[in-house]
Amino acid sequence: MAKRDYYEVLGVPRAASPEDIKKAYRQMALKHHPDRNPGSREAEDRFKEAAEAYAVLADPDKRAVYDRFGHEGLRGEGFQGFSGFDASVFEDFEDILGNFFGFSFGSFFGGRERRRGPGRQRGGDLALEIEISLEEAAAGVEKDIKLTRAETCPACGGSKRKPGTSVSSCPNCGGRGQVRYQQGFFTVARTCPRCRGTGEIVESPCETCQGKGHVREKRSLKVRIPAGVSDGLRLRLIGEGEAGDEGMPAGDLYVTMRVRRHPFFERDGNNLACEISVSFTQAALGARVEIPTLEGSEILKVPPGLQSGEVVRVKGKGLQDVGGRRKGDLFVRVQVKTPEGLTKEQKALLAKLAELRGEDVEAVDKTVIHRMKNIFQ
Ligand SMILES: [Zn+2]
Ligand SMILES: [Zn+2]
Repeated sequence: MAKRDYYEVLGVPRAASPEDIKKAYRQMALKHHPDRNPGSREAEDRFKEAAEAYAVLADPDKRAVYDRFGHEGLRGEGFQGFSGFDASVFEDFEDILGNFFGFSFGSFFGGRERRRGPGRQRGGDLALEIEISLEEAAAGVEKDIKLTRAETCPACGGSKRKPGTSVSSCPNCGGRGQVRYQQGFFTVARTCPRCRGTGEIVESPCETCQGKGHVREKRSLKVRIPAGVSDGLRLRLIGEGEAGDEGMPAGDLYVTMRVRRHPFFERDGNNLACEISVSFTQAALGARVEIPTLEGSEILKVPPGLQSGEVVRVKGKGLQDVGGRRKGDLFVRVQVKTPEGLTKEQKALLAKLAELRGEDVEAVDKTVIHRMKNIFQ
């Protein structure tokens, strides 16, 4: 198949400025990125084609050769596909190319990462869950957590070698920490398997850590949980994860909150809801009822004439926002208990009450059926 013109591949005119070419390449790379087009052979081909076109057009010397002699000119120069191109032209596209083919940008193009020290990695992140009560979530709490993590070896300081001994350069990669090989038209740099990317061979490994540079330690940490956290919220404790390689930062520790269900309160964001019941006379006459809150107790005023199932709102007795001053409310659903097991005297009093209210409890009540008719007609 004939190779397409590089300008055509990127959809730019021959006189396009370097900025236009860069912009066009970014768009192409995003559009055809294999992550966005899973399983599409065509997208992958377009993605590679665009990268190849950009590798040439972003390099002023190669662009000049290409403009004069076309694909032939570059072939004559020994330029084929990706071998021999300048990887630095892709450095601005790390965000797009970052995880392409599962290689990190640095090791994929043999660029950036090595400058941070060959093969050295930051420590891994750790994650755990912590269970707290609703009261603790409301007030905030300090919890002790226990974990086992990799920590820098105290004997060798992470250098992996016996104190006082030296290291030699890895013969497999010549101390570069990477070996290169051809994959299709990509030159891929891979971490050296012999030295695992460090470029060094440790002659006498540290005895304390068996040459690993870190040791596993049981640790107890205090975690300050702010007031107002909700179930599922994740706190990040920077640098409390696994130790990194020598000179690299430790990973982070992620702590996920699990807030236990409360026997009395339901939570909805910062608001709380609960249910209480009052007697029929309390509902009719109004009453003051002591109810529990997350902080203690509160007097709830039941207004006279309250209907069963009505909700009374208690302002500011919910939870506060994390880091905020705003507090949610407590919604109390009040159920009215109908009196049971009445004595003869009590029945007589209630009958008297009905009589005074002009109700005829002996007759068939037709008010319900009338209401229904009004609704459905
Ligand atoms: Zn050690
Ligand atoms: Zn090596």
